Amino acid sequence: MPLIIDSHQDLAWNMLTFGRDYTRSVQETRRLEAGTSVPAINGDSIVGWPEYQRGQVAVVFSTLFAAPAKKKEAYDTLWYTNPETAHRLYRDQINVYRKLADSHPDKFQLISSTKELDSVIEDWSKPALNGEGHPVGLIYLMEGADGIRSPRELSEWYEMGLRLIGLAWAGTRYCGGTGEPGPLTPEGRELLAAMTDYNFVLDLSHMDEAAALESLERYEGPVMATHSNCAALMKGSDTNRHLPDHVIEGLIERDGVIGLLPLNTFLKVGWLRKNGSRREEVPLDVLIAHIDHICQMAGDSLHAGIGSDFDGGFGLQSIPPELDSIADLQVISSSLKARGYNESDVENILGGNWLRFLRRNLPA
Ligand SMILES: [Zn+2]
Repeated sequence: MPLIIDSHQDLAWNMLTFGRDYTRSVQETRRLEAGTSVPAINGDSIVGWPEYQRGQVAVVFSTLFAAPAKKKEAYDTLWYTNPETAHRLYRDQINVYRKLADSHPDKFQLISSTKELDSVIEDWSKPALNGEGHPVGLIYLMEGADGIRSPRELSEWYEMGLRLIGLAWAGTRYCGGTGEPGPLTPEGRELLAAMTDYNFVLDLSHMDEAAALESLERYEGPVMATHSNCAALMKGSDTNRHLPDHVIEGLIERDGVIGLLPLNTFLKVGWLRKNGSRREEVPLDVLIAHIDHICQMAGDSLHAGIGSDFDGGFGLQSIPPELDSIADLQVISSSLKARGYNESDVENILGGNWLRFLRRNLPA
């Protein structure tokens, strides 16, 4: 089984908002949450350490995320009205990850360098200690840069281990984002210039097309999209959340990787859990079509990856019926092979592309 590297999971957000404990199995979390309001809000959990082991999920980009007050849901506890609060909420989430890794070093390890990355990957190549399993590597990913109060602060974030930054979720003061179109702002351009000095990886997911295209031109550091599907396959959709072909082309040219996500709302226009849409309406093969779209554009299998976004505001009820948890992402292999992809293509897409991307772009 190839190793999986998943480029997007909101673990700290779930831990702080819903008290989820990712050392538990998915079944255990579902059992504990049964009868609470959580499954209705966030779906049944699809992420847990035993499932990472079964699915060979070796590395996860784990987010720092909080909602701006303008987009806050009734259940949200992590929301901000100003950069000061956003800053504090993101730092709290770094502490959550540190605590998780400190108290369960056998289960989770933080990664901010190629040395730490390679040590996790090497562990997965050996038989599991005590027959238990391998540590899952976590790399911080800031989703929406409002918590960076000024570009001068980047040194502090770098010091804390942050390597991956997305400027937007909804629109931020740095650029247009989901549901709030717009270009980079002067502050956004200034932040990008400062990010170059540290070779921060820029995440274009959630950035509006105008901001993304300008960033592809302007930003000299590495670029990627951690959790986005293809706009070309979502015709009729009224959101700017999906990646237009021009942005995909730019990412391919810049040797970026795109994490595709098995979320039904992002696979079938009009699919909404709250309107009673059924899982069966969106077979896994639709995700494969999005992966294939990237590979056809690139002419190879070197730019598509998986960015599940699992537990990030949705769960079991909102993913294709072939999947019951993160462990089942391995079934993507057989679907890809059914489309004519070979073994090395499958390895690239499940984890190899992200692995090479990280090795190229993290400090030693
Ligand atoms: Zn997101």
